[in-house]
Amino acid sequence: MDTHDAATAPIAIIGGGVSGALTAYHLIRQNPKVRVVVVDPGTSPGLGLAYATPSYRHLLNVPAGKISALRDEPDHFLTWLRANHDPHAEPMMAQPKTFAPRAVFGRYIQSLLASVSGIGYLRAKVVDLNSRETERY
Ligand SMILES: Cc1cc2nc3c(=O)[nH]c(=O)nc-3n(C[C@H](O)[C@H](O)[C@H](O)COP(=O)(O)OP(=O)(O)OC[C@H]3O[C@@H](n4cnc5c(N)ncnc54)[C@H](O)[C@@H]3O)c2cc1C
Repeated sequence: MDTHDAATAPIAIIGGGVSGALTAYHLIRQNPKVRVVVVDPGTSPGLGLAYATPSYRHLLNVPAGKISALRDEPDHFLTWLRANHDPHAEPMMAQPKTFAPRAVFGRYIQSLLASVSGIGYLRAKVVDLNSRETERY
């Protein structure tokens, strides 16, 4: 019998952009016992290409009130934004305070990652998968 316990085996997520980061975050939020390893060759988990820009002139194309990372808390990003970047941020179409810098959204994603424990990071590029390991789970 296979002694590997699927309940405690780590989950590998390939790619540490926003999709991978939020998948890891939500897996742990749902079950704090879950262990997750995010595999990405980059040094800044959670940013990916879109949110790695340092320029505050590069804005999100989604209003602050529509881009929460938490489905059950639609104002989560807006609240974080007001507390951490711009107290006057607006949720909807009320230029120019509606569209936050992409770099700030990246900081928001990274703050979510920092708020949970259980995510490991492996700085590497995935080049292959072992199908035997995949079948096991
Ligand atoms: C310039 C730009 C601006 C954007 N602006 C917005 C916006 O304002 N609002 C919006 O909603 N969306 C925007 N987007 C779309 C944005 O890309 C997505 O919203 C989201 O960031 C995609 O995240 P992702 O994790 O799926 O992909 P990515 O951010 O591309 O992340 C993929 C990750 O996978 C890693 N990876 C790739 N291959 C491997 C491998 N073999 N092994 C390990 N790791 C690997 C990469 O290193 C990367 O970190 C923008 C995109 C770009 C390019």
